[in-house]
Amino acid sequence: MKTTVLLRHVLCRFLAVVIAAALLVPDHAAAQTAAKKVFGSMAGAAALKPASHGFYSRGCLAGAVAMPFDGPTWQVMRISRNRRWGHPDLISTIEQLSIKANRGGWNGLLVGDISQPRGGPMLTGHASHQIGLDADIWLTPMPNRRLTYREREDTSAISILKKGTNYVDDRRWNKSYENLLHHAASFPQVERLLVHPGIKKKLCETVKGDRSWLQKVRPYYGHHYHFHLRIGCPRGSTDCRKQKATTPGTGCDSSLQWWFDVALAPKKKTKKKSTAKTTKPKKPKVITVADLPQSCQAVVKAGEKPVQTAVYDAKSLSGFVAPQLDLPARFDPMAALASRPIEAGGKALKAITAATVPVPSKPQSVYEPITGPIPVPTPRPKR
Ligand SMILES: [Zn+2]
Repeated sequence: MKTTVLLRHVLCRFLAVVIAAALLVPDHAAAQTAAKKVFGSMAGAAALKPASHGFYSRGCLAGAVAMPFDGPTWQVMRISRNRRWGHPDLISTIEQLSIKANRGGWNGLLVGDISQPRGGPMLTGHASHQIGLDADIWLTPMPNRRLTYREREDTSAISILKKGTNYVDDRRWNKSYENLLHHAASFPQVERLLVHPGIKKKLCETVKGDRSWLQKVRPYYGHHYHFHLRIGCPRGSTDCRKQKATTPGTGCDSSLQWWFDVALAPKKKTKKKSTAKTTKPKKPKVITVADLPQSCQAVVKAGEKPVQTAVYDAKSLSGFVAPQLDLPARFDPMAALASRPIEAGGKALKAITAATVPVPSKPQSVYEPITGPIPVPTPRPKR
């Protein structure tokens, strides 16, 4: 009897140790090749011919170019994230849009996230933006002065929605927003623009004359602090996978109403069944470099493009004197992780524009800790 109890005790201890070990030992193999870690820590572009490999939400980017931090009609925001990289076709599109937009009454573009230097999945945010063909543009016009590095980190974008509603704030919406989106849609290479359903609704109700461009403007969650611009697969990117064509028509129909009636409607509270004991949460699959198109392995291994040749040679830069920015010495993925969402947290741009910028008496650390809670960005389900 005594022996049986002892045996059982030993067996139990042994099992407990085995289970604990299984829980504690991290999956080294998976962690080492987790694509978001590999691509999220890359500081520079792959010295290869420019090419977008794979799909917007599963791929990588070779031979990327960087959007210059400043141009006469744009400023790059959230510099610490190092996401100002894209296929040359996209960077050129953003430059051209900034010029067109400026002529259409939008002072200039505040450029948000584009892609990482070699594209790929990111450690934070964005299901897409992986192949250098997606860019986020703030729905806040560029101020009349150059923002400092710190301001570009801390300043919040301004939502165009009326507070607490899913509709555009009519006191602020004006023709310049329509012009901006119309200009963006007018480029043949631009296939989609993602905006909040409230913005799409406003366009459906107010755009006069040619309305065909509204086909490219797609309603989506979030996207009221910024809009998302997507171009098609560039020529020469042979393994870039095209997205399905958009449904013909302006989209100003019952499908738009679905967003308000179903997608954005407050969720009804339903009693949750107690399934805690029976269903274990599934471990999300770690996307490894091997899960990406084959060519992405060469993109990871390739040498780094020298900085001088990596910045896009924008024509509009001739004669433009870029401001001196207090840039960090090198890219720090951890700082990028801690960067503020554009939706909240800092002073809104209006307030900061009105104030005079004090010259700091001592150089500020670009890694100053964020005070207060880090705001949670608007959730964006997969698109
Ligand atoms: Zn985006």
